[in-house]
Amino acid sequence: MELTKCKYKMRCELGACGNRADYTLAPSRTGIRSSMHLCSACLGEIAELARKAMRPSEEEA
Ligand SMILES: [Zn+2]
Repeated sequence: MELTKCKYKMRCELGACGNRADYTLAPSRTGIRSSMHLCSACLGEIAELARKAMRPSEEEA
């Protein structure tokens, strides 16, 4: 997977966000079609959620 700065003028694809996409998440070198475009806010939120979800439950404070 690759995460790059979004080179295209696209909207964030997450739900009804509507912000301008800042980053492109691509599964592989397959081009723009299969990639996902996210704004920094949504990307950060996903990263935070992933971090929490993958963390062992006993560490939850
Ligand atoms: Zn967004």
